[in-house]
Amino acid sequence: MDPRGKVTISRTLDVDDSSVFMASLVAIRLQRNDGTVLWENDRPSSTFYLRSIMFKFTKETQTTVAALKAGISREIETLQPTTLKKVKIVHELMMTMIDGKITSYLSETSTVVCDICKAKPTQMNNLESHNLRDNDEEMYQYGLSSLHAWIKCMECLLHIAYRLEVKKWSCRGDDKDKIKIRKSAIQRAFKEECGLLIDVVKQGAGSTNDGNTARRFLKNKATTARITGINEQLIENFYVILQAIASGERVDHTKFSIFCNETAELYVKLYPWYYMPSSVHKLLMHGADIIKHFGAIPIGKLSEEAAEARNKDFRHYRENHSRKINRIATNEDIFHNLLLSSDPKITSLRPRMTKQNVLLLSPKAKELLHLSTEPEELEFINIESNLENLQNSSDSE
Ligand SMILES: [Zn+2]
Repeated sequence: MDPRGKVTISRTLDVDDSSVFMASLVAIRLQRNDGTVLWENDRPSSTFYLRSIMFKFTKETQTTVAALKAGISREIETLQPTTLKKVKIVHELMMTMIDGKITSYLSETSTVVCDICKAKPTQMNNLESHNLRDNDEEMYQYGLSSLHAWIKCMECLLHIAYRLEVKKWSCRGDDKDKIKIRKSAIQRAFKEECGLLIDVVKQGAGSTNDGNTARRFLKNKATTARITGINEQLIENFYVILQAIASGERVDHTKFSIFCNETAELYVKLYPWYYMPSSVHKLLMHGADIIKHFGAIPIGKLSEEAAEARNKDFRHYRENHSRKINRIATNEDIFHNLLLSSDPKITSLRPRMTKQNVLLLSPKAKELLHLSTEPEELEFINIESNLENLQNSSDSE
């Protein structure tokens, strides 16, 4: 045996692990042709039912997003029905677990421009001009990105708050310093009074502005109004709208539309100098149409929250639960962990959620929903026995 040998450690230079792109799937419901629901996902915003389809180490750019979207669309188009004995299950997939940035890539518009009516920042606060623009209704299919809507609404109010002294959208020179001072004071107050870290850039990527921060910011309207100087009614209205779309209940799009219009009018009356961000504009001006587009599926069930939570899992699995001997082994272990933690059989054994979250909604948010008069306990639906009954009944036919 010749102990000598040549060892090379090769690095593939075109692979950059700094950003990963993931695509996942969440089952929402299983229903018969007549609309009878056989199974319903009671936590569509959790990763428990989030099945990973693919991940790829690539930068998020217009080109990569478009290519991945095209690939997934092709797969959806060629998806064959699943057959269980005599029961044929057809699949209907909706690409709604995306955020505003991805939507703007798909619509090929800048993030500051509305991807539906193409309104530019300077047009956002002119509510009369809104009805004159044509809407790209194709964009409704991407949903409302309800998790990001919370964060964007909070950030919009914060940016107004920082500028309350200078009352200008774009600022330079002296104004910039004034804004900086006000921003620090507001951040300090939130930290001391509420323990909330607002708008702090995190090492690596992103900021401390997450869904939970935004929920607390908007919920404590009196405190938030006092610290920021923002009108309390506007804070409340944002909170009501966001609760309604996050509730997972069916939203009454007519009432929702009226409430959003009132909120938009209040906004431009109070802060005409701060152009409404495209994300807030989309929620207030197009939210009702998007909700209507999805019909019987509540918009809250289509949230991108589960996919967002998955990013954290991915890092955790990669760091702590994967072999590092080579890339294939690492990726294989990550994928196994992703599939294991979202296994429908295992998830079905967890205690089911009750409709308690409906009870926690503010009365105004409840008014925007199609709720039964008494919030009933969610009926326990067993997918296996339901499918068995279905098969037996079709066997005997
Ligand atoms: Zn628009």
